[in-house]
Amino acid sequence: MQRHEILNWLREPDDHRLAALWRQADEVRRRHVGDAVYLRGLIEISNHCRRQCWYCGLRAPNTRLPRYRLTTEEILGCARQAAARGYGTVVLQAGEDPALTRERIADVVRRIKAETPLAVTLSLGEQSYETLTAWREAGADRYLLRFETSNAALLARIHPPLAGQTRDRLAILPELRALGYEVGSGVMVGIPGQTYADLADDVALFRELDLDMIGVGPFLPHPDTPLGTAAGGNPANGEATGPGTAPDEHETGRHNGQPGQGQVPATELMTYKVIALARLACPRANIPSTTALATLNRAQGRELGLSRGANIVMPNLTPPEYRRLYEIYPAKACLTETVEQFHAALTARILSLGRTIGVGPGGSPNWRDRQLRPAAGSDHG
Ligand code: SAH
Repeated sequence: MQRHEILNWLREPDDHRLAALWRQADEVRRRHVGDAVYLRGLIEISNHCRRQCWYCGLRAPNTRLPRYRLTTEEILGCARQAAARGYGTVVLQAGEDPALTRERIADVVRRIKAETPLAVTLSLGEQSYETLTAWREAGADRYLLRFETSNAALLARIHPPLAGQTRDRLAILPELRALGYEVGSGVMVGIPGQTYADLADDVALFRELDLDMIGVGPFLPHPDTPLGTAAGGNPANGEATGPGTAPDEHETGRHNGQPGQGQVPATELMTYKVIALARLACPRANIPSTTALATLNRAQGRELGLSRGANIVMPNLTPPEYRRLYEIYPAKACLTETVEQFHAALTARILSLGRTIGVGPGGSPNWRDRQLRPAAGSDHG
């Protein structure tokens, strides 16, 4: 798919024409990754964070958030629950918490791998090459690290680097690949300052990076962050001014009369478009229907994501007393449901879509294909 075609879809307002995009994404999904929907048990192991990201409620300066960290035993308890429910994977996610040391996470990973048949995915932010190596050697299978936006200037503003930091997310992704991880990345849709052209570049970059997993969700403003308040504004314009939330769809897409220059709205529809385009760009990747999407449309968001390109759902297994504290954005879906209620309802919904529940770890077909290719013939680098 050409970049101008991506851009045209992102700006397409017509429901009937969009129906063709949904159909195409669903067809490509079925052909390349099948009807199975794989469930990944999400364990949010710590909400401590040393970073200052303008979008995320876990940011270090947010003193209003009570902080928690799961013990190794608590994490293992959640992993056992995932295995007991028949999930094939657990995802350990956290802020960049210095107390989650190389040794501590390596130990947790080794114990999960020794005790259960689960695949282990890590989503622990930007880590040193040595640490990523140690975790891979301990048995971690996959790593999720969204590049958030391909617009480097926008990213630098909303995701300030640590002092002295030289390696950014785009530099870490090839390292993860070289270490043998299944590599996941993705973006937020509708970041204040993100244009249609930026988002088209994001989708093109999914393809270029040949991602194994792609996570996409709408940007959801958090009131205790610079992008969540009325003063938040458009970080691409320099000083923080103007409204913190993205304006309405279709109203602003023709900003300046230049194609692609308008602000992308942080809407449900725009998120479906990016999921569908991600599926067309990376047919054999695993693509979740995300919690952020379900937060915008609790009744239908997950199903519509699954019908428009996604093949993964990540049920939250974090102990309920901690779940509301992992507040990257407010009012996350499924804060109150028990694991049992969620699991029963989710299973019924997946089956009613004519899909099945995936059995086993459900690794990315894209990653498996790559193992079969001779290294010298690999198409990246
Ligand atoms: N510390 C890890 C995990 C972060 S949470 C890391 O930085 O990689 C996982 C994802 O949640 C982030 O990558 C980001 O894309 C998303 N996220 C954070 N704040 C958000 C917000 N306000 N709205 C929507 N998504 C958000």
